[in-house]
Amino acid sequence: MEVLVDFGPKPDEVILNKTLAELKSQDGVKDAVYKEGAILVETALPSTQILEMVTKTSGKRAVLQGFGDTQSAVAMISSQSCCKRQVLGVIRFQQTEEGALVADGSIDGLPAGMHGVHVHTAGDLSQGCKSIGEHYNPCGAPHGAPEDPMDRRHAGDLGNIVADETGRATFRIVDNVLKVWDIIGRSVAVTERKDDLGRGSSPSSKIDGDSGTPIACGIIARSAGVFQNPKRICACDGVVVWDEKDRPLAGKGRREEKPKRRCCENHNNSSVVNPCCKV
Ligand SMILES: [Zn+2]
Repeated sequence: MEVLVDFGPKPDEVILNKTLAELKSQDGVKDAVYKEGAILVETALPSTQILEMVTKTSGKRAVLQGFGDTQSAVAMISSQSCCKRQVLGVIRFQQTEEGALVADGSIDGLPAGMHGVHVHTAGDLSQGCKSIGEHYNPCGAPHGAPEDPMDRRHAGDLGNIVADETGRATFRIVDNVLKVWDIIGRSVAVTERKDDLGRGSSPSSKIDGDSGTPIACGIIARSAGVFQNPKRICACDGVVVWDEKDRPLAGKGRREEKPKRRCCENHNNSSVVNPCCKV
């Protein structure tokens, strides 16, 4: 993964080396190098954990800029105004060279405990999480566990995630059935209850693991891999990445009223003359 750190134009060598050494000392981190203004981390750890580690060691702000290679996807998860409880999060999907799919995510606002995660057939949020269809199931199989063979589980069955007492779930799921190119344009949802993985006695166990209704969902879209995203500003609303890190994903407080910024699509492109581009 590519982590953009707010080192300024030239990083402090001592801080940079300390950060790289700290990353490399972790179990689950294969390598960490500094390249073109970003830290590249080869790891099996969740991205949230890496970002926290970088922020703590360097004392600088850090954001995830790229993830995986060209075969990557991302879903912004939210409660879609379905529920009183506001659930927000991000799940990133990456196809590994070994053929597995990694789903790396962090979701806030969940009731503490276990919740099912499933890829659903449709990328249709016209009625919020009610219109995303059934679990993605190209083989016509019953609902099951991620470790079940393809004919004994829905392809979209990703098992459970666990939210702590603060409402946050941080996870990294490795799945051997789903492929990233099969799920782009579909949805991913988190359910209100634990998924019994098709082992329960309830009639809905073989349908959805008796996991209840989805309380948050989002459409899976193709995303930038490592070094494929040169943007330092969100082209949609003019919020730069460092500002964005400290702002809510949407709603009040997302945008500053003053000073007014104009969009800056690509700060690396010298033909774009734009005084608003801070980075
Ligand atoms: Zn299922």
